[in-house]
Amino acid sequence: MKTVSLFGATGSIGCTSTTILSNQPDNFDVVVVTGGANAEQLAKTAIKLAAKHAVIADETKYDALKHLLSGHGIAVSAGRAALLDAAEIPVDVSLQAIVGFAGVECSLRAAKSSKVLALANKESLVCAGPLLKQACTDNDTILLPVDSEHSAIFQCLRGEQIKCAERIILTASGGPFLNHSNDELKSVTAEQAAKHPRWSMGLRISIDSASMFNKAMELIETKELFDVSPDQLEVIIQPQSIIHSMVGFCDGSIMAHMGPPDMSGAIGYALNHPERLPLPLDRLDFGALGRLDFQHVNHDQFPAIRLAGDAMRMSGLAGAVFNAAKEQALDMFLAGDIGFLDMSHVVEQSLEHFQCGDNPIKFSFTDIVETDLATRAFALQSIKGR
Ligand code: NDP
Repeated sequence: MKTVSLFGATGSIGCTSTTILSNQPDNFDVVVVTGGANAEQLAKTAIKLAAKHAVIADETKYDALKHLLSGHGIAVSAGRAALLDAAEIPVDVSLQAIVGFAGVECSLRAAKSSKVLALANKESLVCAGPLLKQACTDNDTILLPVDSEHSAIFQCLRGEQIKCAERIILTASGGPFLNHSNDELKSVTAEQAAKHPRWSMGLRISIDSASMFNKAMELIETKELFDVSPDQLEVIIQPQSIIHSMVGFCDGSIMAHMGPPDMSGAIGYALNHPERLPLPLDRLDFGALGRLDFQHVNHDQFPAIRLAGDAMRMSGLAGAVFNAAKEQALDMFLAGDIGFLDMSHVVEQSLEHFQCGDNPIKFSFTDIVETDLATRAFALQSIKGR
């Protein structure tokens, strides 16, 4: 039986993970579950998984969580420090599914205390790739991707040598605005952007998918995770979301990973690794599917992909700048302060501004936090100054 801690248990990935864990009660012993502010959902999850600890990041929700869990024998704590302490509890698998920069420090702590770090929080590799990989190496921690594209690439590379991989092709659905013109994109709302045609995900990643900033983050994540050059990375639109990504090898062969667009596959693969166990996913019926389509990315429509290329080439702290500017721009879009297309302008200006300063090759977590804060302040100012 494996001990597991689930960070971000109340979110989209957290809920899918909860279903998988509860379907395999003989395989997993849940130690910690955490949430941000949703005490009701966290309490339900903690009870369902018979977790030993439940931690809520929002301290004001402590009393509510304590009340909901009274009599269940589940320890309760609250606040950022409690969350980080929970990440240091040794477990076999730590599944990191907190959204955004808030999850980065948690991943860094868990990399020191878990045998396997199953990573959904892509911001961890985008902002702190070298630190996270070093922490995993120093502590013999296995880093496994949970993002479906990276799980696909990981599975295509199993038993292969990375030096034989010529190209890594990330697939993208194209999101809800695939065939929109730039004129139409100017006035789309957050509600429209959140309606992903294929995947059911949290609000922020759904809007990032519509702008392709999610794919852009995944490019940086791929570079960090597999130690490949930005020139080896490609994005192709595969609107049915059946091919989750591909690896092209030096002999011209291409391996593709396919499956239904359901995160249970990638989550179950990471939780059960190195075994491959049965999962209750729909099975593909190729006859019913009929065809698989492909389309090049229109870079005028989706500048996020080009901007990720810029950030990867700058390297150093540019990933932290990219993420902070993107998160700040998304907050402003959600607040109705900027339009959909303005988000890429904010990220572009932030990268240009950052390029004028120092970009150390070696950096600490404090450097990342300072860069994150400075970029958010710059991004806000750049909008006010328009
Ligand atoms: P959700 O928004 O659905 O869930 C986010 C989780 O993070 C919730 O449990 C939330 O708690 C918690 N959280 C939010 N802010 C904080 C904070 N400050 N401190 C602690 N916990 C916090 O996100 P998703 O599940 O969609 O995504 C999670 C991560 O996985 C993201 O990094 C995303 O990019 C990545 N990912 C998601 C995929 C998906 O299909 N959803 C696919 C691949 C990657 P609460 O709700 O209680 O406030």
